[in-house]
Amino acid sequence: MTEWRTIIEPFRIHSVEPIRMSTPAERAGWLATAGWNLFGLHADDVIIDLLTDSGTGAMSRDQWAAIQHGDESYAGSPSWFRFQAAVQALFPFRHVIPTHQGRAAEKILFSVIGGPGTVVPSNAHFDTTRANVEATGALALDLAPVLPPDAILPFKGDMDVAALERTIAEVGRDAIPAVFLTVTNNSMGGQPVSLANIRAVRAVCDRHGLPLFLDACRFAENAWFIKLREAGQAHRSIPDIVHEMASLVDGMTMSAKKDGMANIGGWLAMDDDDLAERCRTQLILTEGFPTYGGLAGRDLEAIAQGLAEVVDEDYLRYRIRSTAYLGEALAAMGVPVVQPIGGHAVYLDARALLPHIPPLEYPGQALACALYEEGGIRGCEIGTVMFGRQPDGTELAARMDLVRLAIPRRTYTQSHIDYVIEVVERVAARAASLRGFRITDAPPALRHFTARFEPLGG
Ligand SMILES: *Cc1c(COP(=O)(O)O)cnc(C)c1O
Repeated sequence: MTEWRTIIEPFRIHSVEPIRMSTPAERAGWLATAGWNLFGLHADDVIIDLLTDSGTGAMSRDQWAAIQHGDESYAGSPSWFRFQAAVQALFPFRHVIPTHQGRAAEKILFSVIGGPGTVVPSNAHFDTTRANVEATGALALDLAPVLPPDAILPFKGDMDVAALERTIAEVGRDAIPAVFLTVTNNSMGGQPVSLANIRAVRAVCDRHGLPLFLDACRFAENAWFIKLREAGQAHRSIPDIVHEMASLVDGMTMSAKKDGMANIGGWLAMDDDDLAERCRTQLILTEGFPTYGGLAGRDLEAIAQGLAEVVDEDYLRYRIRSTAYLGEALAAMGVPVVQPIGGHAVYLDARALLPHIPPLEYPGQALACALYEEGGIRGCEIGTVMFGRQPDGTELAARMDLVRLAIPRRTYTQSHIDYVIEVVERVAARAASLRGFRITDAPPALRHFTARFEPLGG
């Protein structure tokens, strides 16, 4: 096939949402009102919203049509059977348990298998996963090697298999209810996990009789990276690669707000009958009857159709290429970004771009606010604001100070992204003039959502 320089969006626009344009002076006022916390903005005061790729994508014509087929029967809805078949077509687990989003699946699973004294190793737990593990009194361990942000490696999301062996030796297999692999590795920059790594982790789990689960939120993006980058995989179809990923594990948690291509939804799946029984009991307490979980029939339909679309190679080629397009353009103009560019987001290295702002004055927050004021772009600080507060109330620099620009699926065009590139270029040109921030008000936990800030030195 011809390799084109320009990878076009493999869709036409069928329905549009207006973007309200605004001026830097207006945005400066809105920022001040929000206490310089971008989570506090009204979303219609944002021009390009790159806060998250979760539930923010555009659904297709066929998904909206599927919604009209939603059957809202309490038990045994045809929409449930379509959803179950669509999930099992990719992940042939015996039990599929629908939930309102990924964290509900995590909550149910860990409330059944976790508890004080248990340890759940992962390549890297996503923040809700960690919170749900820890809420049961269990310990959440991240076993991805710490690699420099500019190290270009094909599978930077892989688990350190030797570290898993050491962990099992230290805590004992009986303390480990399950091992997790997050694909792609969100906390590490959307980096993929190789089939070779999943197989190696499987082999360790088999030796010790441990169940292995996928946090499969971005399974299709991960499978595309395997096809592109892993030796011997180029000829395989995406569903075929996904089947192999599924065949190597005992179950999965999933947020359909990511590679389900839907605005809400998730599921928990597994083969173990006894575990499924215990999870369904929890499901009925907190989510709903097992044939709808936390979802309406129409949501089940949208997800079923989304799963057929997300494994389309034209879509995945565009998806991964368009994220790389943004990251490569920024890197080419000298803006430090986490390398290689991940599947769903580009991460700006604010600590490297703003060396005059110490971590405890939040360089990520400074950069995120400047991008909003300059061009109405909303990104997300992933650094000392998010991770710096210690359990004893003191503060330490996070490992990195990043700003994540997450790309919603099928939502923005190339010219939107060209505009983002131009805004970052302007902010980078005046990087030396940016100032740090001070927190004026913050809750004791998860402060990044609601903290209020004040700019320093001016
Ligand atoms: C989003 C996400 C979750 C949680 O899913 P929600 O639908 O937001 O509850 C879990 N793991 C990963 C890797 C995610 O990206």
